[in-house]
Amino acid sequence: CSIEKNNIMGKIIAIANQKGGVGKTTTAINLGASLAALEYKTLVVDADPQANSTSGLGMNPKEVRKSIYDCMINQTNVKEVIVPSSFDYLDIIPSHIDLVGAEIEMINIKNREERMREALGTVKNEYDFILVDCSPSLGLVTVNALTASDSVIVPVQCEYFALEGLGKLLNTIKIIQSRLNTELEIEGILLTMYDARLRLANQVVEEVNTHFKDLVFKTIIPRNIRLSESPSFGLPAIAHDAESKGTQSYLNLAQEILDKNGIAK
Ligand code: ADP
Ligand code: MG
Repeated sequence: CSIEKNNIMGKIIAIANQKGGVGKTTTAINLGASLAALEYKTLVVDADPQANSTSGLGMNPKEVRKSIYDCMINQTNVKEVIVPSSFDYLDIIPSHIDLVGAEIEMINIKNREERMREALGTVKNEYDFILVDCSPSLGLVTVNALTASDSVIVPVQCEYFALEGLGKLLNTIKIIQSRLNTELEIEGILLTMYDARLRLANQVVEEVNTHFKDLVFKTIIPRNIRLSESPSFGLPAIAHDAESKGTQSYLNLAQEILDKNGIAK
């Protein structure tokens, strides 16, 4: 709807879970590409030194010169660090493996938890959505991401030990809500890598829904080969196979988020 489209949303969403391999990066890339495909101006911020969303969106991490950490530590202007992707409506702030030491460098800087908020604040009103792909840790960079964000998406893999560590994450979110960012909301818990044939996967879905109720997205991301192979082409799944179940599930998630935020399309 054209009236809505003239208003920039300016919503920052962190994608966080200190567990690795749960689908954070896959969600950042494919939710980002889906929102962009729906013509919402989107920025994906790679806040993980592994730089998986940087490479998954087609950039060579070895060629990255400036990243989000430069904005946080050296107060580099964010606009110098943003790179347009090969897709309309989709930009990236890349990461770089060398930045793994940045956590320690930040220990002695002033307002060290607020550096990402200050940095992203300068471009917040130029994007409908800013998605921050967090590293598998609850360290200072992730604290920065949660402090900078309006909400957080928590991907949970439909596998054994799915709920392990979730209490700790939710507790960290509570601490940040009370001390650093009273506005932080949980956008939703996202069930990922679901395989309907597995009884265990169905048990996890049931358990997470019973426990977290309305906090859980209705959209469930299936285990899908297109989602796992497309990063090796440097593409989101939508550009690799637009018809795949994986692509469709992330488009559904984008729509669910738009609906949740009262944006009609
Ligand atoms: P994280 O960023 O939380 O560490 P990733 O998004 O990198 O997790 O996912 C971990 C691995 O699982 C990657 O190899 C990724 O391609 C694969 N993967 C993630 N989601 C899916 C899915 N829905 N279907 C199939 N493979 C997936
Ligand atoms: Mg990742």
